[in-house]
Amino acid sequence: MATRPIGGYTAPVGRYSSWVHIFDTSQSMVVPFEPGKTVRMYVCGITPYDSTHLGHASTYLTYDLLIRRLEDLGHEVELVRNVTDVDDSILPKARELGIDFLELAAAEMARFHNDMDMLNTRAPAAEPRATESIEPIIELIERLDQQGHIYTIDGITWFDVATAPTFGRLSGYAEDTMAAFAAERGGTPTDLRQRNPLDFILWQPSADDEPSWDSPFGPGRPGWHIECSAMSWAHFGQTLDLHGGGTDLIFPHHEAEKVQSELGYGHTLAHHWMHAGMVAYQGSKMSKSLGNLVFVSELAKTHAPQAIRLALMGHHYRDDWEWFDGDIDDGQERFERIRDGVARGTGPDPQPTLTGVRAALDDDLDAPRAREAIDKLALAILAGEGTDPSSGDGLREAAELVGVNIDPV
Ligand SMILES: [Zn+2]
Repeated sequence: MATRPIGGYTAPVGRYSSWVHIFDTSQSMVVPFEPGKTVRMYVCGITPYDSTHLGHASTYLTYDLLIRRLEDLGHEVELVRNVTDVDDSILPKARELGIDFLELAAAEMARFHNDMDMLNTRAPAAEPRATESIEPIIELIERLDQQGHIYTIDGITWFDVATAPTFGRLSGYAEDTMAAFAAERGGTPTDLRQRNPLDFILWQPSADDEPSWDSPFGPGRPGWHIECSAMSWAHFGQTLDLHGGGTDLIFPHHEAEKVQSELGYGHTLAHHWMHAGMVAYQGSKMSKSLGNLVFVSELAKTHAPQAIRLALMGHHYRDDWEWFDGDIDDGQERFERIRDGVARGTGPDPQPTLTGVRAALDDDLDAPRAREAIDKLALAILAGEGTDPSSGDGLREAAELVGVNIDPV
């Protein structure tokens, strides 16, 4: 079989023209992901008003797996993950707690960073905050204004979707689906002042106790979608290789980002769009409003953080799936098998496992398959199979490919 080198790794060429394939939402198919040496990746971050739950962890671990595989192939990945520190979720929560919203954001960001570090995710190169990006946000709205894409009524500035022929192309959703999601996800489709129910807010007046900035459209604060368009451009200044987030961001958030950036900056926002499925618990999608959240920090009190990673790897990123309480024990058992297998050392030749893990990741990030390949080697070592003294080291390397680090034993 022919081989070709990239970075320090030589991979077989067979099924694919390049190695990493991902499902691109905008193309509705699995496609080769072929960035240059440096990969520009923007993943929508959190609104820091509550602790990291498994839905967040599952999304961010998806991109972490991709980053690790790209690094393994010799790429350098520049990840930017924003912080939405002024929006309709954080402001009421700060009001309820009687503290400043920036104080709440700082405390929750610190907890989020702790959780992400504990889960061994790669730190982003930058974490731009909406409150520190007001200038580029206003500048982008002005660009849209100059081209006739906005209108202002009663101090609220909307994006006029009728001026954007490609609006709806990312999601591919029908108009009534878009309207339903807009209503559910922070839009204002029933506000009769809008020209079109799908128009979305770029700038709005602030309530008395909310932060407010001066702008050419009146005093106020930005809408949610415009923030990511402005912050990704402010950081990269060119088309992203990949834009990510949960599937609940496809519409309206990413659809809005895409048209704003294309019309405002005259550039394609991202070459690829990749979205991670939703996590349910007790029969419904994990959500703050339902209160059915499972927190990373709670699980970590009784289980190894590696167990959380391994438990989440039991599901493909594109699936919506449900968390069950026993999943964490299964993850813990898998982690202990890997740890014990590494310590035992002698076992089967580990090369097929390493190849298998890489092939699984290249195949649209098939985490369950990668997890099974690792587990199979651990079980074989523990069963006393094979005489290769490098088996344990190979097992350690395979686990590290998916971010599961084994403490020195
Ligand atoms: Zn975003």
